[in-house]
Amino acid sequence: MTVTLGNEAYQRASGLTRATRRAARRFAPLPAEFTFTVDVEDHAGDARAAAQTTRLLDLLEEADARGTFFVLDAFAAADPALVRRIAARGHEVASHGHDHRRLAEHRPAAFRAGMAAARDRLAQATGTAPVGYRAPYFSLTPEAAWVPEELAAAGFAYSSSVLPAWNPMAGWPGAPRRPFLWPCGLLELPVPVARLGPFRLPFLGGMYLRWLPPWRLRQFVGRWTREDAAGGGLWSYCHPYDLDETEGLVRRADAGAFGSLMLWLNRGPTLPRLQGLLHGRRSETFAARLPALRAGAGAWAPAPAGQPMLAAG
Ligand SMILES: [Zn+2]
Repeated sequence: MTVTLGNEAYQRASGLTRATRRAARRFAPLPAEFTFTVDVEDHAGDARAAAQTTRLLDLLEEADARGTFFVLDAFAAADPALVRRIAARGHEVASHGHDHRRLAEHRPAAFRAGMAAARDRLAQATGTAPVGYRAPYFSLTPEAAWVPEELAAAGFAYSSSVLPAWNPMAGWPGAPRRPFLWPCGLLELPVPVARLGPFRLPFLGGMYLRWLPPWRLRQFVGRWTREDAAGGGLWSYCHPYDLDETEGLVRRADAGAFGSLMLWLNRGPTLPRLQGLLHGRRSETFAARLPALRAGAGAWAPAPAGQPMLAAG
């Protein structure tokens, strides 16, 4: 035991270690290989996200892990130096789109122009064009079925934009829960979801990772491992604000009063849970895992518009 730490600092450090150990036990059944992903965006319109992104870079370095960072275009425009640092520290820089609206609100021509600008900006910052894309809110839904073709034409190799279940925010019920190929050849890496009655929840990310009680998290880990682990498509996601414990309440236009409160509260569990997930597990970027993920992916064509979707089994 060290004696150089002040009492308060020591208690904080040992508390975090215990919480991390508990989280690691809960995640133990998950496969040893996954991808730690971050959606880099700044909902408060200030520089807090940059500081939190740096904390995430340090967290990954401590765990000798590499992750994929999906950077929103406005953030890349405001802080290209941070984008460069993400790449320089061995991580993949990918695109979180030109703006943070749902895909169904876009028209193809404007989407195409926005994505070209976003892709160019990331390529300029890092020296390499991004090959990955994630839609805001996982909003690749049946209403936006034209998007995969646009992404493939723009030079993207993969997307991780589908939530393969019904969800009040955005989802595609009936889409495969394992990595799959769109008819245009683009690889899709759906967000891992676990069953809860008639629903499925993205338990390894954002608000879910923060709010799920420990017993429920353990249950979801078991269910996902039994039902979907064979596909190899395990990944987690978080946002810089998920671990920002000192930020004040931000009223988000896209979340309403209750949603803004949920996004603000209970940020303490994020860090130990992410540490627990990294413990004893190997995180590699999607770009590095692409050949294996692609080799294991089946083809999937959505039903033509107007036909009812089959519910996920
Ligand atoms: Zn986002």
